[in-house]
Amino acid sequence: MKSGPEGIRMEIKSQHKGQKGLREKVLDAGLCTNCGACTNLCPYHTSYQDNPILIDTCDREEGRCYAFCPRTYTDLQALRQNLFNIDEFTPELGPFKGLYMTRAADPQVRRSAQHGGTVTTLLALALQDGLIDAAVVAEEGGTFLPAGVVAKTPSDLVRRARSKFVVSPNVATFNQAAKSGLEKIGVVATPCQALALAKMRLKPLPPKDSNIDKLHLVIGLFCGWALSWRELKSLLQGKMGKNSIVGLDIPPSKHHSMEVHTQNGIIEISLDEVLPSVRKACQYCYDLTAEFSDVSVGSARLPEGWEVARGWNQVIVRTQMGQELIDLARSRGLLEFRDLPEGNWEKLQKASVNKKRAAIQNLVQRSGSSKDLLYLDGQDPVLRTLMG
Ligand SMILES: Cc1cc2nc3c(=O)[nH]c(=O)nc-3n(C[C@H](O)[C@H](O)[C@H](O)COP(=O)(O)OP(=O)(O)OC[C@H]3O[C@@H](n4cnc5c(N)ncnc54)[C@H](O)[C@@H]3O)c2cc1C
Ligand code: SF4
Ligand code: SF4
Repeated sequence: MKSGPEGIRMEIKSQHKGQKGLREKVLDAGLCTNCGACTNLCPYHTSYQDNPILIDTCDREEGRCYAFCPRTYTDLQALRQNLFNIDEFTPELGPFKGLYMTRAADPQVRRSAQHGGTVTTLLALALQDGLIDAAVVAEEGGTFLPAGVVAKTPSDLVRRARSKFVVSPNVATFNQAAKSGLEKIGVVATPCQALALAKMRLKPLPPKDSNIDKLHLVIGLFCGWALSWRELKSLLQGKMGKNSIVGLDIPPSKHHSMEVHTQNGIIEISLDEVLPSVRKACQYCYDLTAEFSDVSVGSARLPEGWEVARGWNQVIVRTQMGQELIDLARSRGLLEFRDLPEGNWEKLQKASVNKKRAAIQNLVQRSGSSKDLLYLDGQDPVLRTLMG
């Protein structure tokens, strides 16, 4: 990604651009995604369970917490133009150099991973080749409450593989790691976290925060929605009895279920029971594929069906850095590639546009005006096209 010019104003709508504005417009409004961007910047904010909390009041009129939050006013076009090659931008999927289907060549990585193990493989390669000194990934807590952790070796990464479907505040862990002497950090980010990191990269406030220069790689995860921790916990407690849970997964939409992987096999729960546990803020999220990343990784779709597809990833490369990493993984034989089935690109575009349209509809419903998209700019050229 290119580094942003100085002095770009990220905010034109709000009067309060510090902690007070964050509380009123994001936290109290139920828009917080728990990305962690407002945490570990100053002594007043911390993370507790599934949410950020304010330890004390800060009366600064402008603050980094507000400027970096992905749910305060965001000029998406400024981010696209300043951080990416706008000639490679697609309205449906964001910055786009190519779409691939990949999986780890190492069967041990594949066994530990959520799908094909592409994320773990790319991070391990970036660590081994010195592109990064450390990677912020998510660790499963004892009761499905994940936390961001700093991994410094490939085996650290393998232990933290698999998806945690409750948000892990990885940007808070990046903020902490960047203060700790690490110089080149990679982050695994959901789309809302990748957006927060992109807002940081534009350095909207003086003094210019040099810590963001330590961000060297963002691997984004596709994300349809995340679950609220309390509700997931009570859903699983009621269902699982003595079965010990190894992980969760969401198969393609036609299955209409969430899989709970246990030591005794897979148990399916109907999405009708799961969807009420989705984090409320996710209904206002317009990004499926983590558009502000170097590389974005999600599950695959294959004609052979989910049993085969679950062992592969679809990967969108967005930046030069992302392209070099994928090419290196291919040339070293660390990732296996297969041809993309016909129609996959179109299906992904459609799913991405559907999420954007649903978010816009929910934002309009929430604000009561088609001109007010809360944190998004109604004049944004991509959103205007999608809104017709
Ligand atoms: C909340 C959520 C929703 C998702 N929704 C979709 C979807 O709708 N469609 C789709 O195609 N894919 C979705 N994914 C992505 C998918 O589950 C896999 O993460 C992706 O396919 C990568 O697989 P992999 O085998 O390469 O990952 P692995 O090699 O297993 O690596 C996964 C990496 O992600 C990190 N991680 C896990 N959970 C989180 C988290 N909550 N926040 C930040 N980092 C985390 C892990 O620590 C690990 O480093 C979602 C993931 C999450 C976390
Ligand atoms: S920065 Fe992230 S964690 Fe903090 S209020 Fe905004 S969305 Fe929530
Ligand atoms: S759906 Fe959006 S807001 Fe919710 S966790 Fe995923 S990226 Fe964040």
